[in-house]
Amino acid sequence: MIERTLVLLKPDAVQRGLIGEIITRFEKVGLKMVGMKMVWVDRDFSKKHYKDHVEKGFYKGLEDFIVEGPLLALAVEGIHAVELIRKMVGSTEPRKALPGTIRGDFAQHSYEYADKKGIAIKNLIHASDTAENAKRELELWFKKEEMHSYKTLSETHVF
Ligand code: GDP
Ligand code: MG
Repeated sequence: MIERTLVLLKPDAVQRGLIGEIITRFEKVGLKMVGMKMVWVDRDFSKKHYKDHVEKGFYKGLEDFIVEGPLLALAVEGIHAVELIRKMVGSTEPRKALPGTIRGDFAQHSYEYADKKGIAIKNLIHASDTAENAKRELELWFKKEEMHSYKTLSETHVF
């Protein structure tokens, strides 16, 4: 039940200065940061990360988006962490993402707008969508020694 998952604060989140705000939300629910690094990925790496999307029409814009600047990669641990973080992140399309979610509170793109401009939906964040993908993505982004096991106060008061 205790899971680890991958979160990326995409280049728009870094450039908008939302790193602190977003990490604070995860810390407040008691999620544990177990790995963290700033990375500027290239196009080959993007194709590995988004391997299921490479053939899709929006992929070119998505790749341009993810390589346009540095992003912050997080390995996050918690109870049902994959599900919890996807809930906090909200729908892929910020237009549909509910207030209270990260995408709903800090972004406004729609599919219609992004597709017309030929760009990716700017939605601040990536979060693994299944436990299986979380495992694969963490292996892609983090070496074993870049993730850490330690105790937080949440394990006394929240877990
Ligand atoms: P996520 O898991 O919620 O991030 O969504 P997906 O895995 O389906 O898509 C990956 C990313 O591609 C999204 O976060 C968006 O940035 C972008 N994206 C997805 N679908 C579309 C689309 O239909 N049009 C455009 N322009 N971008 C999209
Ligand atoms: Mg996805």
